[in-house]
Amino acid sequence: MARSSTSVDVAVIGAGPYGLSLAAHLRARGVDHRIFGEPMAAWKSNMPPGMLLKSYPWASSISDPGSDFTVKNFCTERALPYHDELMPLPLNRFIEYGEAFQDALRARRGAQGSDGAGARPGRPSRQFR
Ligand SMILES: Cc1cc2nc3c(=O)[nH]c(=O)nc-3n(C[C@H](O)[C@H](O)[C@H](O)COP(=O)(O)OP(=O)(O)OC[C@H]3O[C@@H](n4cnc5c(N)ncnc54)[C@H](O)[C@@H]3O)c2cc1C
Repeated sequence: MARSSTSVDVAVIGAGPYGLSLAAHLRARGVDHRIFGEPMAAWKSNMPPGMLLKSYPWASSISDPGSDFTVKNFCTERALPYHDELMPLPLNRFIEYGEAFQDALRARRGAQGSDGAGARPGRPSRQFR
């Protein structure tokens, strides 16, 4: 039976830290997938402004297959202050990190060519695909 052009093997609902991570791991394994939702939406809308993360910076990274896109690497590449334990991670910095994680994956997919999961026109630009 022919597959519909809109069907995928895995749908990830929600683009929070775990959804973004899951998408990264699915992509690395070549699993046909699509992720739905505004990246880091709960962190943007449901957290107290000015909040500092409870988790240590070293424990706040979003898992990716090569462990390349850690909070530490994100801050280091941008000359932002970072320490594994001796400073808290501000809410806005974590949101920026999550959005950059999404952008990095999107760029990686662009470099590799379409994975068939979401390279279709007409999607909102802030949707992680
Ligand atoms: C005040 C507060 C402080 C916290 N501090 C920390 C901390 O310091 N460190 C830490 O590790 N954790 C912290 N947490 C826990 C944190 O929420 C989780 O660690 C993390 O966000 C879990 O990621 P997630 O992707 O599972 O969930 P979420 O971040 O909640 O993401 C789920 C996403 O799914 C979306 N969604 C839901 N339904 C749909 C749908 N039908 N369609 C599309 N999208 C949908 C939501 O909008 C949301 O964006 C804190 C939580 C709270 C409330």
